[in-house]
Amino acid sequence: MNAKAIRDSALSTRHSALSGLSESTLTRLAKLGIASKFDFVLHLPLRYDDETRLYSLNEAPAGQPVLVEGSVVETDIRYRPRRQLVCHIQDGSGVLTLRFFNFYQSQLQQLATGARVRAFGEIRHGFHGPEMVHPKYRLVQEGAPIARALTPVYPTTAGLAQDALRRLIAHALADCDLSDTLPRPLRESLGLPPFRESVLLLHNPPPQTPQDALAGRTHPAWCRVKFDELLAQQLSMREHYRRRKAAGAPALKPRGKLAQALLSRLPFKLTTAQNKALAQIRHDLALPHPMQRLLQGDVGSGKTVVAALAALQSVENGRQVAVMAPTEILAEQHYRKFAAWLDPLGVRVAWLYGGLGRREKRAALAAVAKGEASVAVGTHALIEEEVEFADLALAIVDEQHRFGVHQRLALRMKGSRPNQGAQPHQLMMSATPIPRTLAMSYYADLDVSVIDELPPGRAPVTTRLVSDTRRAEVIRRVRDACMAGSQAYWVCPLIEESETLQLKTALDTHAALAATFPELKLGLVHGRLKGDEKALVMEAFRGGAIQLLVATTVIEVGVDVPNATLMVIEHAERMGLAQLHQLRGRVGRGAAAAACILVYANPLTPGARERLKIIYENRDGFEIARHDLKLRGPGELLGARQSGIPMLRFADLDADLDLLDRARAAAGTLLRERPDCAQAHLARWLGARHEFLKA
Ligand code: ADP
Ligand code: MG
Repeated sequence: MNAKAIRDSALSTRHSALSGLSESTLTRLAKLGIASKFDFVLHLPLRYDDETRLYSLNEAPAGQPVLVEGSVVETDIRYRPRRQLVCHIQDGSGVLTLRFFNFYQSQLQQLATGARVRAFGEIRHGFHGPEMVHPKYRLVQEGAPIARALTPVYPTTAGLAQDALRRLIAHALADCDLSDTLPRPLRESLGLPPFRESVLLLHNPPPQTPQDALAGRTHPAWCRVKFDELLAQQLSMREHYRRRKAAGAPALKPRGKLAQALLSRLPFKLTTAQNKALAQIRHDLALPHPMQRLLQGDVGSGKTVVAALAALQSVENGRQVAVMAPTEILAEQHYRKFAAWLDPLGVRVAWLYGGLGRREKRAALAAVAKGEASVAVGTHALIEEEVEFADLALAIVDEQHRFGVHQRLALRMKGSRPNQGAQPHQLMMSATPIPRTLAMSYYADLDVSVIDELPPGRAPVTTRLVSDTRRAEVIRRVRDACMAGSQAYWVCPLIEESETLQLKTALDTHAALAATFPELKLGLVHGRLKGDEKALVMEAFRGGAIQLLVATTVIEVGVDVPNATLMVIEHAERMGLAQLHQLRGRVGRGAAAAACILVYANPLTPGARERLKIIYENRDGFEIARHDLKLRGPGELLGARQSGIPMLRFADLDADLDLLDRARAAAGTLLRERPDCAQAHLARWLGARHEFLKA
């Protein structure tokens, strides 16, 4: 069959309603994610029962599921120790008791003396001899054939029996077009079996199929399905990328004068990695198509100055820039930095945040709308309806994973000119390093620049794990550091369940520490403070008027105070890896040696112990993120980005890296040489979801 035919039939089977099924069955199927015939094909077994061998009762091994058969000697209902149906069978070689605690009255008649029963279950040798509790069973004629394939056990939901689901799947396998979407030469060069063969095998494996290869999903049939899934993901991301890239954008020519002026005023030189990232961004901005670039760099690698230099390229072309950050503290800090760098160059920077007074807000909005302010820095206040840009050409989003798809889209829309079809360039930044596998799969629709080097002269942060029984030592450490002229953070325990409790904990911690350190100047910052109150506290800390800053995790992102060299994190065992890494990144930003003390409370759960060990042993954000991916899976790690992007059901980014590499290469080949096959593949795997991704 040619690819067009496959695509049409794939689309039609995908969209074909599940005809002839009751409303309640459809609802149950929907719970399993089955909405079309083809979804049945991809509803793969959880495991298999081996009912291909019939054991005699005296030979059946205990401790594993076995198939046995016998005739009923006696069945009755017992009431002690609780109500149960008890059925004894025998096959001439031995006897077995079948025991049911949940049963229908009708089963008593069904299992009448002399009936032939075939039962599948695990035999246990109890006080009354061998027995099976709640076996799967059915009545058979003598000599009835036994299964020739392993019996699939499917994920299911209440009210939908395995047998019913199995029948529906068998029908779908017979009805659906299972022809290959991969051209044969490509498939063979990849060493993968045909699609049809693979799904048929997974639904009905012959008895000799190695069970461990099925369970471990390493069987070639599994590889094919996982490969196809990854290929669909790659194709759809590329498609998405291509479509966005086809839009127009203002070509921002690098004039370089303002950038030169800023560079010459900086007290440092850019690192090689910063220069490289900047060159990639500059190149993209000069093109008449929207840049879609992710700038990745570990905590403290210096992304902000790169963003500022990129912004200047837009300003030099008389266009505006928006810089959006997820928290007020971070937005304020960006505003300060941008203003300090750009003001002397005659570039006006506006600041938009939730806590702005009415008059100031009106003035800021007007400056942005009229184009008097070339750069607008803010929180999500930037995407409110009343914000209008005169001519937005570049949208910068810091800590982009903290924003949802819709928020990023809304910012982009601020610069779109429907009549010209132009879109602003986008620069997204993230200090949560994304492991290579995740970047390759979920970020395949973005170009990525990586700052993989820290500025020179940074003393590494020493990490210490201290049990909370040794609090006195920690207190001594903090006092010594502050008396010696350094500053410190004290991060309060995280109370995720309740914001009110979180606030109370912060206030209590602050009060207790104020009593402990009467000689130190303390400050407190938490999420409930108003914007300007937060700004005042941070300003005091930055200026040295506060020596010890008691804080909730609001300081997790972006905060940059180089003189702070010590951080204490209480109840570190409650925090996630990314969070600990971000928090620790707040110290060690100057040349002085810095330390992070992770205080934990016993007893530790195995998970907490593992996280603390990882954070203690690793400094590199990418390495930590890789561990995090293993512990939590991609859904958690990607955060807001996952909405709208289909997650992988079959492939495992850790185990299937090799398949991912091959799927990526194959996606390129298909799009170049056989776009018809690419389309057919997308239609088969994503169908309607593919349409959604275009949004
Ligand atoms: P992040 O990448 O975590 O956002 P920042 O942009 O906040 O990091 O930079 C961290 C600190 O390093 C800032 O104080 C910044 O001014 C400084 N910095 C940036 N680039 C360099 C450099 N090339 N050399 C020295 N210091 C730098
Ligand atoms: Mg930053």
